[in-house]
Amino acid sequence: MAKFILIGSGLAGGLLAAYLGRRGYDVDVYERRADPREGNIVGGRSINLAISTRGIHALEQVGIAHEALRHAIPMRGRMIHDKSGELHFTPYDVDPKKCINSIGRAALNTTVIEAAQRYPNVRVLFNYKCADVDLDHAAAHLEAVNGAVTARADAIIGVDGAFSAVRKSMQMQIDGFEYDESYLAHGYKEMTIPPGPDGSWRMEKNALHIWPRKSFMMIALPNPDGSFTCTLFWEFEGPRSFAATKTDDEVRRFFAEEFPDAVPLMPMLLEDFHQNPTGSLVTIRCAPWYYRNKICLVGDAAHAVVPFYGQGMNAAFEDCVVLDECLEKFPDNPEHAFAKYFEHRKENADALADLAIGNFIEMRDKTASKRFRAKKKLDHFLEAALPGVYLPLYTMVTFTRIPYAEAARRARLQDRFIYGTLICLPVLLIAALVFRWIAR
Ligand SMILES: Cc1cc2nc3c(=O)[nH]c(=O)nc-3n(C[C@H](O)[C@H](O)[C@H](O)COP(=O)(O)OP(=O)(O)OC[C@H]3O[C@@H](n4cnc5c(N)ncnc54)[C@H](O)[C@@H]3O)c2cc1C
Repeated sequence: MAKFILIGSGLAGGLLAAYLGRRGYDVDVYERRADPREGNIVGGRSINLAISTRGIHALEQVGIAHEALRHAIPMRGRMIHDKSGELHFTPYDVDPKKCINSIGRAALNTTVIEAAQRYPNVRVLFNYKCADVDLDHAAAHLEAVNGAVTARADAIIGVDGAFSAVRKSMQMQIDGFEYDESYLAHGYKEMTIPPGPDGSWRMEKNALHIWPRKSFMMIALPNPDGSFTCTLFWEFEGPRSFAATKTDDEVRRFFAEEFPDAVPLMPMLLEDFHQNPTGSLVTIRCAPWYYRNKICLVGDAAHAVVPFYGQGMNAAFEDCVVLDECLEKFPDNPEHAFAKYFEHRKENADALADLAIGNFIEMRDKTASKRFRAKKKLDHFLEAALPGVYLPLYTMVTFTRIPYAEAARRARLQDRFIYGTLICLPVLLIAALVFRWIAR
């Protein structure tokens, strides 16, 4: 059986190792960090994430969905906090059972790694940082505690995230390799709303909370210990920005003006704001995602997206499902399997990248408006009235496995039809009335 090296045992790396282990491949996973079970080393990334249908399906295929979702908290809709502290709840779907789930990154990472390690043919090696890869020989040059080592296999899969060393080697060694990265003008910072004295949640537990403020926003997702992780998405530079807000007074004033109902719930606000890092938000597009039968990219290494559709990890997990299916179809021709996987995923990753940026504008600006709430009600009405015919875009992306590109195309068509009809109906009605009046 062929041997694979995986670079990275993050969310997608752990899961992919389980998929490949199940198929009987020999798998060595090299991870630059320490074993996540030895402490909180996920730092600098979101503490919790929203997992939905695509991600859950991928976990189900290797039998770990139940285990992974044990401590997840269902979020049934958006809870909008306006500046006066008034709350508006909009369910995600007409079916109240359809929800997204807040899940801890560290716990999920541990679950997928342990699932992989159950296969005797999978080894996960921590504290190995990949420096670069020799593509033609499928050889990874690794920096370890005791010095540099070279690991070889039949193929290497880069599951090493947005700043992938494997992808960098492809950029250097493949003529015509396409690469594009673009950063938002916004960064993000995480802060905490701790649990109440009795360990309870101090806001509605089963919702994703949003404080939309037009050019920026804060969101909060619940954790199993009664706390919420808040994330402020804000401009890096400008008159009101991370750069312009330095002193305790400036931080206090900004939060009191913009998020007055959250401030009393955030006793660690100043410490969190000053001590927690400000992360950047990048979209990465590249092509191809493979090199002959030697190299392949999966997850953020191939297609990092901004987090506003809550789909980056879900898409990375879906990559694992598709790559596994391609390897099953073409067991003796990994190059063909990689090519088919790339062909299937690339347009969907590009579509998701666009959807994710679009949803930032929707979340920070539109969710506060009455028009947005009316459109959601209309969406839900049409979904209920035309089952299987009309599906809102959010529903297709979050609660189905319809490929992202197809979902985007279908939503555009639906919108044209619905808005066309809404505009034409009054015109037709007036025309009919005029016609009747003339005919009298
Ligand atoms: C603020 C924020 C919120 C998000 N929220 C959501 C959400 O709600 N829902 C969702 O679906 N997605 C969300 N995402 C996206 C999600 O985090 C990513 O899509 C997901 O982590 C991708 O998984 P991955 O395994 O490809 O990469 P990663 O999770 O980044 O894992 C990469 C792994 O590779 C290792 N590595 C890196 N370089 C090397 C090297 N040179 N050698 C060895 N190992 C290496 C890293 O240590 C890491 O363990 C969010 C992202 C951010 C930033």
